[in-house]
Amino acid sequence: MTGVVYKSTGSWYWVKSEDGRLHQCRIKGKFRLKGIKSTNPVAVGDRVHFDLEKKGDDEVGIITSIIDRDNYIVRKSVNLSKQTHIIAANVDIVFLLITINNPPTFTTFIDRFLVTAEAYSVETVLVFNKIDTYEIEERAEILYLRDIYEPIGYTCIEVSATEGKNIDKIKELMKGKISVFAGHSGVGKSTLVNAIEPSLDLKTKEISDQHKQGQHTTTFAEMFDLSFDARIIDTPGIKGFGVVDMEKDELGDYFPEFFALKSECKFNNCIHIKEPQCAVKDALEHEEVAWSRYKSYLQILEGEEENFRTDNWDN
Ligand code: GDP
Ligand code: ZN
Repeated sequence: MTGVVYKSTGSWYWVKSEDGRLHQCRIKGKFRLKGIKSTNPVAVGDRVHFDLEKKGDDEVGIITSIIDRDNYIVRKSVNLSKQTHIIAANVDIVFLLITINNPPTFTTFIDRFLVTAEAYSVETVLVFNKIDTYEIEERAEILYLRDIYEPIGYTCIEVSATEGKNIDKIKELMKGKISVFAGHSGVGKSTLVNAIEPSLDLKTKEISDQHKQGQHTTTFAEMFDLSFDARIIDTPGIKGFGVVDMEKDELGDYFPEFFALKSECKFNNCIHIKEPQCAVKDALEHEEVAWSRYKSYLQILEGEEENFRTDNWDN
């Protein structure tokens, strides 16, 4: 049989088969995983093959193999073994929540996230939350950010999770897909998911003052079927997809607006820094490429070792 992993405790996995039944499963022996070492061989979102075995009156599933993943989200394990933990697999769309303040979200954070999502070809939608709280300055900041990201191809939606504004637009994009909500702690992920599907009742945390960020209360990922042909994976705070290993001249491929110009650079391995006749730097000077994007690009490039591997992000 085949099914999708909805939940895991570490030794048990809840796998939903195509007929909608949930089966409690264990893993058969040890899986050898290609490429990555992780503390968990099977993650929420994994598509697996499993057999059912009779145990008295009960049936127990045995997971025998994992079907190749389209993508996966990792986080560094809390122990010191330097192994990674796979939080979720096979995500179709990510909603990256952004707030202008309380807490602030900076473009470097957004751009790093987008690079990893591009590397895994995962559609990312930018969701500006808490618009009910914004004055003219914050609204101007949102317009400024939309002017950067919309022309590059990222859908931007302004919402208020507490007032229910534009929730229908998010639901429309979620249909038929597996979604994940990402963004800093306190941006309103749980509140938004509760607005989308009130029966889920995810826990939210109050932010007590401007400088304190809310703490995310989720510790294990779990998948939920929603009432409108959509599924979400509720996860602990994630900062990107990983593990991304790339060459220096590959990074620009994950900035779509740089990638579009690449063929016009004189050198086909141009990294858009000091090379002559660089189309990206030309566009930058003519304000056709945003400085903040270029700044993020340089930051990631300079911190190469550290930043390309998203598994050493601290959350
Ligand atoms: P999470 O850490 O991303 O899951 O954030 P939460 O959903 O726990 O929300 C953090 C705080 O922000 C809570 O006090 C929410 O009530 C508040 N919040 C979330 N969305 C909105 C919104 O659209 N408007 C306002 N005014 N507050 C919000
Ligand atoms: Zn160039």
